[in-house]
Amino acid sequence: MTVNSSTLPCPVCHQTLDLRKAQVRKSGKPSLMLICPQDGRHFRGFIADKEYVQAVVDRVGEVNP
Ligand SMILES: [Zn+2]
Repeated sequence: MTVNSSTLPCPVCHQTLDLRKAQVRKSGKPSLMLICPQDGRHFRGFIADKEYVQAVVDRVGEVNP
């Protein structure tokens, strides 16, 4: 299951990017991945700032990988 962010369209196909919770294997820190649901080559981004990730998870609820 993924939670759609309503504010971030893919720059290529304009589909709403999927927001997924990811785990950085080395550190075990939670991070967020933004990926185009149509094609991961369009856009893929990682956010690893702990406070930001926690704030987003709190806001949208639990995000499953
Ligand atoms: Zn796309």
